[in-house]
Amino acid sequence: MTPLAHLISERIRAAGPISIADYMAECLMHGRHGYYATHDPFGASGDFTTAPEISQMFGELLGLCLAQAWLDQGAPSPVALAELGPGRGTLMADALRATQGVPGFHAALSLHLVEVSPHLRQVQAQTLARYRPLWHDSAATLPDAPLLLVANEFFDALPIRQFRRVAVGWCEHLVGLQGGHLTLGLSAPLYPGPFAHRLADTVPGDVVEICPSLGVMVAQMADRIARNGGAALVVDYGGWHSRGDTFQALRNHSPADPFAEPGLADLTAHVDFEAIAAAATPATCSAMVPMGALLASLGIAARAEKLALGLQGSALASHIAAFHRLTGPAEMGNLFKAIALYPKGAPVPP
Ligand code: SAH
Repeated sequence: MTPLAHLISERIRAAGPISIADYMAECLMHGRHGYYATHDPFGASGDFTTAPEISQMFGELLGLCLAQAWLDQGAPSPVALAELGPGRGTLMADALRATQGVPGFHAALSLHLVEVSPHLRQVQAQTLARYRPLWHDSAATLPDAPLLLVANEFFDALPIRQFRRVAVGWCEHLVGLQGGHLTLGLSAPLYPGPFAHRLADTVPGDVVEICPSLGVMVAQMADRIARNGGAALVVDYGGWHSRGDTFQALRNHSPADPFAEPGLADLTAHVDFEAIAAAATPATCSAMVPMGALLASLGIAARAEKLALGLQGSALASHIAAFHRLTGPAEMGNLFKAIALYPKGAPVPP
């Protein structure tokens, strides 16, 4: 049993089963034994590989997209450049390098990183030292200024609750104990409240997920963007209109049992982009687009060709493989989606 399994079991013995959201929060963010407190999850030696770790092109193009949105809105100064969950800081480093030539951009910006992991904050401090970043525990303390924000694979780490439709209404999936092991069970039927409208498109047995903190975070950035200008780009694994059980654990690049070794595996759920759009007022929300389509319209083919000119042998082969991995419909290009928030009446970000 992991130390965290022990702590969670004690809590359940004392106070009863907990929601999947509480379980995810403990597993990912427990100060001592949580996954993000103890792991550097990225790359070949970690549990998963994210788009910015696959190719520099990803951060470059997203950075240029935000810089273009800044230019299109009259280049306001000062401007806050922010990232939610920056991981190793790779995306932001690539974005900042790519935007060096945008007149006035670097002089106008201050850099803000929203990160819970003390370990990853240290890694980010090294990667981004020359830009003197400021760290935040949540989006609530981002400056009240024009805001350019990017979040890649951040919302999928936020805790979700799961509800199952049963003959008489809805029950919540709760984490409890059976034979001393953590296991998933069902609550007593509960008042459908937030799911009343989902009776129309579900049948008994169906699972619906909600992410309580997603709406709060999106509302915080939408409020700033609507009042002060700027744009936000959210890229993540997911789709439109949550449906089904998407709660999953990943360890050493392979699916794992989310209840077997709490704290040792990464836990995620698909992001419901409809919930992002619903929380985006008073800002405007773009259509949701597949990540491959976004990168194509930002010019990834031209950038890939330019970079290829300086490469040969295995470096060239892995560059071409990275291009296909990011854009290919059977790889990340269709599974990942993107959406943008911007002020009413402002040009749509590229
Ligand atoms: N964006 C990076 C990392 C994605 S992993 C990339 O694309 O490579 C998720 C990141 O979000 C990690 O940096 C993790 O520590 C951070 N994180 C997860 N939950 C968080 C929360 N509730 N508040 C702030 N940061 C969080």
